[in-house]
Amino acid sequence: MDESNKDQRSAPTPALRAEREHCRWDKVDVMQYKQEGSAPFRDITRQVLFDDPQLAAQVRYFEMQAGGYSTLERHQHMHAVMILRGSGRCLVGDRVLDVREHDLINIPALTWHQFRAGDTAPMGFLCVVNAVRDKPQLPGEADLKTLRADPAVAAFIRA
Ligand code: MN
Repeated sequence: MDESNKDQRSAPTPALRAEREHCRWDKVDVMQYKQEGSAPFRDITRQVLFDDPQLAAQVRYFEMQAGGYSTLERHQHMHAVMILRGSGRCLVGDRVLDVREHDLINIPALTWHQFRAGDTAPMGFLCVVNAVRDKPQLPGEADLKTLRADPAVAAFIRA
């Protein structure tokens, strides 16, 4: 193996990765949220801020453009979320919550959840997860029927 390549691959995370524009950091790639077509989502990007073998968690930053949303999903692992930029709404279980910068959102195991930016500005959030975790589940027809029984939830998950 090429020595420089090996060095690059095993390079530790630098002590400091400065923010170079709003919610964009040195040596942090702005990536696709998920594989296209794998699940419904719109205008959302993913940045992995902390992902170290010595840490049992990952810290990611997701950002939605105005009108953007994350996938409606649930899974066995939980999320610890802080809104870092802007405001919008999120679904946690059967509750639709208004959220804004620096609010903290707790998403327990096996709880349906989705984030939506407002119509005029981006919304971004930090999300802490277990490094080893199960794959998200998408709602089936029966799940959607249950969720849509509540008009506020039905309006929120419309798309
Ligand atoms: Mn999730």
